[in-house]
Amino acid sequence: MTAMEPTDSELTATDLAHLRRCVELAREGLDAGDEPFGSLLVDASGVVRFEDRNRVAGGDATRHPEFEIARWAAEELSPEERAASVVYTSGEHCPMCSAAHAWVGLGRIVYAASSEQLSSWRAEWGLGPGPVAALPIQAVAPRLVVAGPAVELTEEIRQLHHQLAQRDGE
Ligand code: ZN
Repeated sequence: MTAMEPTDSELTATDLAHLRRCVELAREGLDAGDEPFGSLLVDASGVVRFEDRNRVAGGDATRHPEFEIARWAAEELSPEERAASVVYTSGEHCPMCSAAHAWVGLGRIVYAASSEQLSSWRAEWGLGPGPVAALPIQAVAPRLVVAGPAVELTEEIRQLHHQLAQRDGE
């Protein structure tokens, strides 16, 4: 295969620091009654420009932080700034967010937990699949540069999603 390699799991200390913040945002989401996902955008100079968390509890299931980032970036950043930005996220983008990210021309994605991990945990806990296929980012947007998962954060994220599964099962 000479095409894009699937992942570069060599995460730097800076990558991990940003991912830890995403996990904090994910925890805020869970605590607020939403789902445990958090994401942020870092610009070319390393500054965090925007961060958000999942906000689906109000009934709009498209309120994913990665989607908010894409819309924010389309409004606030030039095409060059978008291409030079890196988006960090606690859970790999879903197909909707992968598409939005690619359509607005954002740069690299670094995720802490993969969609494959999230799906396998759901199955393990007896939950059915969600309404959208858990495709990897590059199955939706093949030219995006992607890194992850972060093994250092796997257990913490698994715990957050387990809490969600237990809450939803009540
Ligand atoms: Zn999404």
